[in-house]
Amino acid sequence: MDYKPLQKIKYGMYIVSSRKGDKFNGQIANTVFQITAEPVTMAVSISKQNFTHDYIAESGVFSVSVLTVDAPMTLIGQFGFKSGRDIDKFANVDFKTGQTGAPVVLDHSAAWLEAKVISSTDCGTHTLFIGEVVNCENIKDTKTMSYNFYHRIKGGFTPKNAPTYQKPPKKEQETMKKYKCKVCGYVYEPEKGDPEADIRAGTPFEKLPENWKCPVCGAPKSEFEPV
Ligand code: FE
Repeated sequence: MDYKPLQKIKYGMYIVSSRKGDKFNGQIANTVFQITAEPVTMAVSISKQNFTHDYIAESGVFSVSVLTVDAPMTLIGQFGFKSGRDIDKFANVDFKTGQTGAPVVLDHSAAWLEAKVISSTDCGTHTLFIGEVVNCENIKDTKTMSYNFYHRIKGGFTPKNAPTYQKPPKKEQETMKKYKCKVCGYVYEPEKGDPEADIRAGTPFEKLPENWKCPVCGAPKSEFEPV
């Protein structure tokens, strides 16, 4: 099957958060969408392997923060490529507790919503949680980040647990070698450089400063291997 048509479906970039007792967790998700207008309901597709899945399943509540186009890779990396099993994702993030008790990330968020789960569907690797929106706020009218922008401009990578993950195709030869972070899967592409760290497009991996770090997880250059 040719998977290209799937890449033409558009998504946004969101942080979906929930609680379990008094513990908070959240993750990056692109599969978030409105289902009905009256009442307002939203669906989120969450991998069963993710910590946030257990939190939503247990508490029956979740929040969605809509990321702005300027959200940095460090924030996306913290919520998308690290696990709440290892770190407290909310330790250095501006957030508040919503009326459902779910944490709501405010950093680089254009708006947020919170919902109570009214139904969930077992989709094999993922669960589709449908929630009724009980509260929401428009923070600012800034451009929001699309999934396409994350991939094309930010050089973002799709983790294996994402609903839209596709196995990478067998790669054609590149003129400049790409390097992959062994910790988080981020791929340094010389043609794109790393604009957030002032690395110009066209900079080969070998020419990156020794103190350059993975823009997603902060791993040093030594944790990279050629793709
Ligand atoms: Fe990394």
